Amino acid sequence: MRKGYSVDSPMLLVSLIYEKRIGLKEFINTLNNIIIMQPGYARIVYCPYCSEKKELLSLMSGNTIGARYWSDLRMRAPMLPEVSPVQKCHHCGKYYLQYKQKSEHGEKPSLEQGELSYPEWKEAYTQFMNERENRNPIQKVDEKDIDMIRLRLIQAYNDYYYRDCVAEFSEEEWGYISNVIWDFIGSKNKPDNLHPLLIPELLREIGMLCEDFFESECFENLDGFDKIYYDGIRKRMEDDDTEVFEIII
Ligand SMILES: [Zn+2]
Repeated sequence: MRKGYSVDSPMLLVSLIYEKRIGLKEFINTLNNIIIMQPGYARIVYCPYCSEKKELLSLMSGNTIGARYWSDLRMRAPMLPEVSPVQKCHHCGKYYLQYKQKSEHGEKPSLEQGELSYPEWKEAYTQFMNERENRNPIQKVDEKDIDMIRLRLIQAYNDYYYRDCVAEFSEEEWGYISNVIWDFIGSKNKPDNLHPLLIPELLREIGMLCEDFFESECFENLDGFDKIYYDGIRKRMEDDDTEVFEIII
């Protein structure tokens, strides 16, 4: 391989050997240097309601090559698949927080991510909100869990109606998700290290962002991802556009 020529994508590497621009030895050497996604032994969890076993994906390595980012902070990275923090039990249909369950390693890898659809996130949210009221719940759900679920629910809504276009816009669902967004914004238990532009962005998505926001000095001298994110919010607000958007770096 030519000196100073670096490759960080397996697909690019394959195209280089296909075009005979590199030899087999160079191909193998370079491939070894690329961190590719590698599943490890499955992580086994048990449903806290019925003890049904579930084998989940566990990654030994991954990367963000080919990742896409959206303004609701949704990221989809093909080489870094994520296991849903909330899992639906295939046996009893209940939802549980997989990261709070005791786990053990399986004997073989699993590709199960247990991703939930928007209607399932809604069901899960209702279940967790009810359990929060329960004095002796089977699983303890705290305020931080609820806020994490709210953000996932908002992102699942955007998946359903915009990113994946599973269904047409619904006034009723928009009203529902607007209330979830208000509850998320008003909560004191939001996930740590949230991007400071997320709250203004969510306000824009429900048509409640004020012009004053753009006069704040906090958002001067932005660059890179933050600048693209900020400019995207501003332009769409000027256009009265409330849709989630992709942040293309
Ligand atoms: Zn179960």
